[in-house]
Amino acid sequence: MAGMLYLVPTPIGNLGDISLRCRQTLEEADFIAAEDTRVTLKLLNHLGIKKCLVSYYEHNKAFQGQKILERILAGETCALVSDAGSPAISDPGEDLVRQCAQAGVTVCAIPGPCAAVTALSVSGLPTGRFCFEGFLSTAKKSRREHLESLKTEQRTMIFYEAPHKLTATLADLAQAFGPDRPVSLCRELTKLHEQILRTTLGEALELYTAQPPKGEFVLIVAGAQPEEKEAPSQEDIARRLQALMAQGLSRKDAVRQTAVDLRLPKNVVYDAALKALPED
Ligand code: SAM
Repeated sequence: MAGMLYLVPTPIGNLGDISLRCRQTLEEADFIAAEDTRVTLKLLNHLGIKKCLVSYYEHNKAFQGQKILERILAGETCALVSDAGSPAISDPGEDLVRQCAQAGVTVCAIPGPCAAVTALSVSGLPTGRFCFEGFLSTAKKSRREHLESLKTEQRTMIFYEAPHKLTATLADLAQAFGPDRPVSLCRELTKLHEQILRTTLGEALELYTAQPPKGEFVLIVAGAQPEEKEAPSQEDIARRLQALMAQGLSRKDAVRQTAVDLRLPKNVVYDAALKALPED
């Protein structure tokens, strides 16, 4: 019979945050797959657990994932841990979970520390609807596209960032969302120097330009106000009109339908039609 994969969250700073169930799972697993075996060994030593460790990280995950899966299929139980926090959230565990699920292996996630949720809950920003955006890409083009896609996002947004990239990220966020957008910078969560700074993107940028950031950060950024939603551009209106006319609607009907679809006054759509489309 196949074994199981357990996702075991580990402390994001305070070792006291390891739960009884996590501890027991680490003790009882046949082996532990760890993002960095040195980091996990320290935790295991602290807990007094001796266990076979295998490494599973970004650059060996294709090969190691298959080997781990084979061991599980042969009946062993694996506990997956990342360096800190919940495995599979912005770390390589995501792929192993998918592989196991596809192979019909039972995956059991144990609840526990997660930097994103810890930051969101303490941010003071709306928590009813939120989206997790993880790390922004370092490639300029995809970073810009990512931020562009979030310009009108109304849910509270969660970003992870490394300290040496924080100032550049704040600058890009301030440019995309405006300097007045509220942000909570959650630094060194659960650690001795935990700090929650509830401010705006512009002020945070000023602060960390003057004083380079240190430690680990989660950024919780307020969503856009409904009225900040961008009005459709002339090109958007023209595209909608053209699509409707291509479906066989007359120019007049296409204007009426576009006004309804885009929630715009008819005269605005009519003006766009005059500029973009030839007369009937
Ligand atoms: N899987 C982990 C989790 O969900 O908690 C996150 C792993 S991700 C590779 C690491 C990022 O999590 C850091 O760059 C930082 O943004 C955030 N992070 C982790 N620990 C943190 C802490 N104690 N305080 C603030 N942010 C933290």
